[in-house]
Amino acid sequence: MRLILLGPPGAGKGTQAQRLVAKHDIIQLSTGDMLRAAVAAGTPVGMQAKEIMASGSLVPDEIVIGIISDRLDQPDMKNGFILDGFPRTVPQAEALDELLKKKHIKLDAVVELRVNESALLQRVESRVAEMRARGEEVRIDDTPEVLTKRLAQYRSMTEPLIHYYSERRKLLTVDGMLTIEQVTREINRILAAIDAADARAAAKKAQAKRARVAKAVKKPAKAAKKASKGAKKAATKVAKPAKGKVARRPVKAAKKVTKKRAKR
Ligand code: AMP
Repeated sequence: MRLILLGPPGAGKGTQAQRLVAKHDIIQLSTGDMLRAAVAAGTPVGMQAKEIMASGSLVPDEIVIGIISDRLDQPDMKNGFILDGFPRTVPQAEALDELLKKKHIKLDAVVELRVNESALLQRVESRVAEMRARGEEVRIDDTPEVLTKRLAQYRSMTEPLIHYYSERRKLLTVDGMLTIEQVTREINRILAAIDAADARAAAKKAQAKRARVAKAVKKPAKAAKKASKGAKKAATKVAKPAKGKVARRPVKAAKKVTKKRAKR
């Protein structure tokens, strides 16, 4: 299963991605997590991304495309993956299309979690409160000011992807305002339908292939039949020469008769 989860910050992409990972034994690729790890490790990419992320802006396309391209080459990807937070711009989506084409990977679906924007701020606030209560470190971009900027970024840069993937008949929209359980159920229902459609298409393809093979086997048999019919016809032609034409054997027979007559 190869999926993209699309939705604004706070839509629940991370939560649903984790559930899909557990159910389908696939890998979650979150560019946000990867960038945060790079920032924590102080890598050159991390150093470039740190300030940008803190301000709620988007990291340059070539950085995230490079991260994803490297990751898709890892052997653990063969079972499938779920992209969470990538692509986030049309050029990223185009680059991803190219990457997948080059790597001969088929994207199964893009699942959009559609949410009511006014509910997002509240969601993120409660996520922050829960994290604080658990004593976890809170993301520096989870403040109301930065969230407002991230939402604006989503609207202008990422929302066009809804049109991009719907044009390519990949988009499936789920109501992200339902409870976590309901959203999971809905995603699973959609993915099961895709699986069933794929299985039907594969069966149809296999049947068409079998029919082609059967036809190819029949063709030589027909050709052989035709050839033997032709040979028979040719033989009859020799045995019964056409009017005015002399066949070889009758010539030989005529010679014999002449010889016999000469002897007499
Ligand atoms: P996230 O955890 O997905 O909310 O991402 C956190 C931050 O990482 C974003 O606000 C961006 O600054 C950066 N980021 C993550 N994914 C991307 C991406 N695909 N393109 C550009 N920036 C990204």
